[in-house]
Amino acid sequence: MTDSVTGAGDGTRAVRAGLPEPVKHEPTLPGPVFAAHFHLPGDPTGPYTYGRDENPTWTHLERAIGELEAPGHDDVETLVFASGMAAISSVLFSQLSAGDTVVLPDDGYQVLPLVRTQLEAYGIEVRTAPTGGDAQLDVLDGAKLLWIETPSNPGLDVCDVRRLVEAAHTRGCLVAVDNTLATPLGQRPLELGADFSVASGTKQLTGHGDILLGYVTGGDAAAMASVRRWRKIVGAIPGPMEAWLAHRSLATLQLRVDRQNANALVIAEALRDRHEELGVRYPGLPGDPSHKIASQQMRRFGCVVSFTLPTRARADRFLDALRLVDDATSFGGVRSTAERRGRWGGDAVPEGFIRFSAGAEDPQDLVADVLRALDESSR
Ligand SMILES: *Cc1c(COP(=O)(O)O)cnc(C)c1O
Repeated sequence: MTDSVTGAGDGTRAVRAGLPEPVKHEPTLPGPVFAAHFHLPGDPTGPYTYGRDENPTWTHLERAIGELEAPGHDDVETLVFASGMAAISSVLFSQLSAGDTVVLPDDGYQVLPLVRTQLEAYGIEVRTAPTGGDAQLDVLDGAKLLWIETPSNPGLDVCDVRRLVEAAHTRGCLVAVDNTLATPLGQRPLELGADFSVASGTKQLTGHGDILLGYVTGGDAAAMASVRRWRKIVGAIPGPMEAWLAHRSLATLQLRVDRQNANALVIAEALRDRHEELGVRYPGLPGDPSHKIASQQMRRFGCVVSFTLPTRARADRFLDALRLVDDATSFGGVRSTAERRGRWGGDAVPEGFIRFSAGAEDPQDLVADVLRALDESSR
């Protein structure tokens, strides 16, 4: 897969992303810089003054993520955060004030309803719309910001980003896309016209299930300045060690994503072809309700598959019977995980709904484990 802007493929770009110019006797990727403050004689000029404002380890990571989110666009800026929620909150609370209106998904990440309550407490009007079917179009009038999550977590519905951006921009409304599930190798929201690409780096971006991280990438300097100001105010900053680990993990992003997404497709096909109807959803599966639009705007379809077992008890037995798949929340790691999503409450999913995250195991082992667990749990 090559890119028209720089000519480099995704694997090449991933291994080189954000690396500084080589310096004799220095490592290729400089180690984490642990500093609460930096030597600063005289007038305080930037960039490195105090550790809540800037850190050289973040700078390298921010460049790396920017090169993946918007290759060839040097005017784009990226800011890293302590978690995906820190990044999301920073966009929402820096862009909106009392009297403004925002449109949120009603089937998005499970913390969004809590965010909604907080936005409303600050006098911001919140409207919601489902992700599939571009129903957001009906509630855009007068909105300041449209927040979309595509593919949605956990329902895996997809909306048409270009179409929604066009409708929003005509009305003077900004658009932010939660790009967590797709990763920048799966989807580039800024190239689809969005103003912000926001994501949790906790999931497939870093992919080992051992750090929390978030980021915001945007092309509008003024909007990004206010997001930066918000990060400084709330101090929702990643530690240098997490930032460095994340950057190190990016080198294998293309390898992990391609292996995990291929596994997701194989699992989805195996579930679809079973004798029992499981309501399997995967945007990469031809025939899936999301597939058509996903094919127009995504370059890869993600590592998450969902399906529904008839009862909660069957779902629990299935999860118990799996040997290669951990019963755990979150997704995107190199080790496959699955969970009964309804155990949390909050998501509008049936009791037997399973969110399955494909890891980097060998496909035949993974499929065999899943099919065996399905058979055993049906008895
Ligand atoms: C996990 C997730 C978040 C929140 O990210 P954290 O890193 O856990 O704060 C936001 N959006 C989506 C789609 C997610 O899956």
